[in-house]
Amino acid sequence: MKNHPLGLSIRNVSKRYANGVQALHNVSLSIPPGMYGLLGPNGAGKSTLMRTLATLQEPDAGQIRLGDLDVVSQKEAVRETLGYLPQEFGVYPKASAEELLDYFAVLKGLTSRAQRRETTEALLRQTNLWDQRKQKLGGFSGGMKQRFGVAVALLGNPRLLIVDEPTAGLDPAERVRFLNLLSELGENSVVILSTHIVADVAELCANMAIINQGQILLEAQPLEAVAALQGRIWRKLTDKPTLPALEREHRIISAKLLSGRTLVHVYSPERPDPGFEPVEPDLEDVYFSALTGCFGPAIEQQQVEAVGL
Ligand code: ADP
Repeated sequence: MKNHPLGLSIRNVSKRYANGVQALHNVSLSIPPGMYGLLGPNGAGKSTLMRTLATLQEPDAGQIRLGDLDVVSQKEAVRETLGYLPQEFGVYPKASAEELLDYFAVLKGLTSRAQRRETTEALLRQTNLWDQRKQKLGGFSGGMKQRFGVAVALLGNPRLLIVDEPTAGLDPAERVRFLNLLSELGENSVVILSTHIVADVAELCANMAIINQGQILLEAQPLEAVAALQGRIWRKLTDKPTLPALEREHRIISAKLLSGRTLVHVYSPERPDPGFEPVEPDLEDVYFSALTGCFGPAIEQQQVEAVGL
């Protein structure tokens, strides 16, 4: 996986904004072709990293390579092979999907009308918008607009596709349709999905990283990370007033409401007390364990010690 010839390599990238916010702190990631999830809460630094990869802003320090291209110094060459679906983008509401895609294809350098027609038709079919191609974009639902954004981003067959928080505003059916579309994209390009929604990554990504406060907390394969938590997550149904006491005694990774009560998940190598029952861990447990500092380099060290290395 390291330094794959078609992959993306990010080394020691840092970024501090003029207002003093350190949005990225020594970020290093090796991203192979295929779907890669960048998971983190709001404000973690995801968009900053995505905009940097998309050559829209420069890091203060560090190197980024896409295959044999240097992303910081060879911006033009990277842009030719980049598709970027930002968190928010405007469309011309009075244009139809077909007209606007054709327009963007011209901007992308597709000057032959016949070639454009072939490309736009293929993309409108791939994104399931062919039947709506004559409709004005102003009347599109959130999901249709996002799929149109993917069609635009895929113009020119990018080697790197960046999709920033794409499912945030979608209803459940639109979300499934959108994730299905992403899952069908080629294995030969790098597709980075940045999101705060754990389920997006769980359903789609073979590799992922968790970021918070500008730092990478965990770089892992979701299935392996879940397996590493086996036997370490415990749950208890409790009531809100007893939560502070539980918090003092245990490493609570998450607390959520369940039928008016509070369900807590606790990280512990052994059963904390008889009131807790074991949980089959999932990626949400990985995420919250990482955010609360239970999972990451420290736990890996514990495992090494456990097997006596
Ligand atoms: P995310 O995409 O994970 O929500 P961002 O990269 O947007 O995170 O933001 C990371 C941090 O940097 C936040 O504290 C945010 O307020 C700050 N930030 C983002 N963009 C700017 C900017 N242009 N100027 C100053 N601070 C910014």
